[in-house]
Amino acid sequence: EVRRVTPESDAELAFEGALRPQSLGEFVGQHKVRRQLQLLLEAAALQSRTPDHILLAGPPGLGKTTLAMIVAHEGQRPLRMTSGPAIQHAGDLAAVLSSLVPGEVLFIDEIHRMARSAEEMLYLAMEDFRVDIMVGKGAGATSIPLELAPFTLVGATTRAGLLPNPLRDRFGFTAHLEFYEPEELHQVLVRAARLLTLAIDDDALGEIARRSRGTPRIANRLLRRVRDYALVHGGAADRTAVRAALELYDVDEQGLDRLDRAVLSAVVERFDGGPVGLSTLAVSVGEEAETIEAVVEPFLVRSGLLSRTPRGRVATVRAWQHLGLAPRTTVGD
Ligand code: ADP
Repeated sequence: EVRRVTPESDAELAFEGALRPQSLGEFVGQHKVRRQLQLLLEAAALQSRTPDHILLAGPPGLGKTTLAMIVAHEGQRPLRMTSGPAIQHAGDLAAVLSSLVPGEVLFIDEIHRMARSAEEMLYLAMEDFRVDIMVGKGAGATSIPLELAPFTLVGATTRAGLLPNPLRDRFGFTAHLEFYEPEELHQVLVRAARLLTLAIDDDALGEIARRSRGTPRIANRLLRRVRDYALVHGGAADRTAVRAALELYDVDEQGLDRLDRAVLSAVVERFDGGPVGLSTLAVSVGEEAETIEAVVEPFLVRSGLLSRTPRGRVATVRAWQHLGLAPRTTVGD
């Protein structure tokens, strides 16, 4: 399970809730996706129909849940939230689908982790707003068709590649969320600091933005840690406080956290720069392969520290430099 950058406590959840943008206009960055969503929602509104189903793909903390809420909010539609792991049987899904009200937005987080039997039920539901409920067993079993209220499914996944094609094909639009630029995270932080009435200088916000792994959730979380630091030490929330707080929480100059660095140094030191396969790498750092693939790798790749090749993961020259080591000069020894 991808748990490292998901909310850790009720306080954290409440905090995230308070900072969630409520409209596309307030949503920072992701310009292309915003325009694509806007068009889809406006067209549906003009025709007074439910918007097409939407798939949101990308690493954790980039705004998938927030966008699902915005889709509901902008269309003034009710929202139902569930997740793939909560749907272990087709019956679990049937219960949710049959209780939807007309026009409702159904958000399924981690949709790639739903039970296979439920997936098949979902195909029909998405296409025809109908499910077939199986009644009885063996030779006497029959299926009873059940009409559903028209709804909009918003699915979120950290890995669109894991979805079976028939499911992927039934979404009218797939949004691929990208990591945010430091300037965009800066905007996220300015907004968060304002909502939390936090006095923190702009310089400090810039430093947090630069070291937040391109991820709004992490930016907001680091902001809280810096606030804690200033509070406890009685000083200003300035660049010095940022440096000290981030060092305490093992966030390095480029925003890599402990797991990022563990993965990077495993590739470099234990596997001599690679190539190394995902499962070998996962075992060597004691983490789930899914977490490495969905959370760690996308960031390391985008930072130019790791590259994926057909033979496995390979550390770049920059990775060696980042770890303070001289790059390997001979290849293949
Ligand atoms: P995901 O569902 O992709 O894991 P969330 O939607 O839960 O991510 O976002 C995590 C946090 O980051 C939320 O508190 C949200 O307020 C904030 N956030 C995400 N994207 C943005 C954005 N584009 N602008 C402002 N805040 C954002």
